[in-house]
Amino acid sequence: MDHEALRDWSKRAADWAHDYHAGLRDRPVRPRTTPGALRAVLPAAAPEAPEPMERIFADFEALIPAAMTHWQHPRFFAYFPANAAPASMLAEQLANAIAAQCMLWQTSPAATELEQAMVGWLRGALGLPAGWSGTLHDSATTATLSAVLTMREAASGWRGNAEGLAALPRLRLYASDQTHSSVDKAARIAGFGQANLVKVATDAGLSIDPAALEAAIAADRAAGYLPAGVVLCTGGTSVGACDRLGPAIAVAKAAGLPVHVDAAWAGSAMICPEFRPLWNGVEGADSVVMNPHKWLGPQFDCAVQFLADPAPQIRTLGLKPAYLATAGAETVTDFNDWTVPLGRRFRALKLWFVLRAHGLDGLRHRIREHVAWAGELAAEIGRHPALEIVTPPLLSLFTFAHRDGDAATEALLAAINDDGRIYLTPTRHVGRSVIRVQVGQFDCTRADVMCVAEVLRDLA
Ligand SMILES: *Cc1c(COP(=O)(O)O)cnc(C)c1O
Repeated sequence: MDHEALRDWSKRAADWAHDYHAGLRDRPVRPRTTPGALRAVLPAAAPEAPEPMERIFADFEALIPAAMTHWQHPRFFAYFPANAAPASMLAEQLANAIAAQCMLWQTSPAATELEQAMVGWLRGALGLPAGWSGTLHDSATTATLSAVLTMREAASGWRGNAEGLAALPRLRLYASDQTHSSVDKAARIAGFGQANLVKVATDAGLSIDPAALEAAIAADRAAGYLPAGVVLCTGGTSVGACDRLGPAIAVAKAAGLPVHVDAAWAGSAMICPEFRPLWNGVEGADSVVMNPHKWLGPQFDCAVQFLADPAPQIRTLGLKPAYLATAGAETVTDFNDWTVPLGRRFRALKLWFVLRAHGLDGLRHRIREHVAWAGELAAEIGRHPALEIVTPPLLSLFTFAHRDGDAATEALLAAINDDGRIYLTPTRHVGRSVIRVQVGQFDCTRADVMCVAEVLRDLA
């Protein structure tokens, strides 16, 4: 295939994309497929001879969409959303055409400077302090890993990278029992070890208990451990738990520890000033991650890490071998020094397109609607005699369960997802099976959201 053919096929792909999106409501959200079904119809090895694009495209249409879970389906209420605004898709097409590797300023001047500008636009939109900078990562997991690696290096006097972990005292990391598994993964990969991630108890409001955090740090110091940092959350994945950042950060600062805040999902909502009390005190943090790729419109992958001071992270992750040296590097930002991988995609372009095409007001309006509709839906479900709301809406996320117990709740969820009109996912809350509902897909309407109540009336 050459670039002339690409021009024609791109137009066909654009038509296909339009029809796919227009027809999503007619598809089940989750595919009716079984494990191994697609593998079974694929040849075991790559073809030796070139195949015509006509046949490749036909196979795509015949095999792939029917075996995909449709994240852009307006009745996708599972996990958290992974929105892809049309303006984002357009930007990704252009970034794909340029196909740059954005590791250094010199390899991608516009990508680097657009990234700096977009981090600044978002920082302002979320009401974070004016002096902060930041960078884009693929995922919140990588951002949290970067923050935790930086905590390790700062706590160890920058000896971990140089001498290896065997030279260090046993490091400790603190988080609540509501934090995302990416914190566990960071503790493992960064060499703390799972046993040294201290899961501090939460209070009745599902916030880390500041007094318990203080006691845990003091006890560890007395026992000869090396406390390195605290990870807090705004909008936990299970039921939306929010740590009271102000008091928890005060404890961390009094102990001399840096703080990273995981607001991967809820961070997008902070473009609306009325939701910012959920992260009161965030300005005291050292690092904050939020995923525009969840609720703001730029498609996966796009995670933003804001940094009060990037210097410790650059000291931890920066590495310049001779073959990456560029003249004048002191005067520019080479973002690979801020992140784990060397190679970087051009992610800032979709942020630029989405923020301009919707405007902050357009994005706020959508998020406010999602929150309002989630509230209406939770009230409606609460009136169903067989169901009860277990955790009330935190922004647009709530959970419910069947009054007859776990087995009934799990059977109901299986029936809901086999039905196909909507897609919901499970979690556990205080020892109980519950069903999560989050409202956040960009094309969903109030009618799509209220369809959840309709499905429950049919099945519960
Ligand atoms: C989604 C989520 C993550 C992980 O995000 P990735 O970008 O997929 O790594 C981490 N923390 C929270 C609170 C999340 O909601």
